[in-house]
Amino acid sequence: MPVMPELDIELCDGCGLCLAACHGDGIVPAAGKVNIVETESCDFCGVCEWVCPRGAISCKYVIHPEDQA
Ligand code: SF4
Ligand code: SF4
Repeated sequence: MPVMPELDIELCDGCGLCLAACHGDGIVPAAGKVNIVETESCDFCGVCEWVCPRGAISCKYVIHPEDQA
């Protein structure tokens, strides 16, 4: 299961900047806004979070302490 960015749909105004910036196909148009769909083509690059002017996308990292040994 790929880790995907999180979208706060309430903050999204449908500007489409994330759609244009994404090099994968993890972001799709949806009802005048966007949706994030699980796909292996997303490499969690963080560009969608970076370009969003409304802070609607978050690429939250998950830390696995067991991997830090
Ligand atoms: S993290 Fe990168 S590849 Fe994944 S949806 Fe965002 S822009 Fe696309
Ligand atoms: S860049 Fe942000 S506000 Fe614009 S469509 Fe994407 S999530 Fe919505």
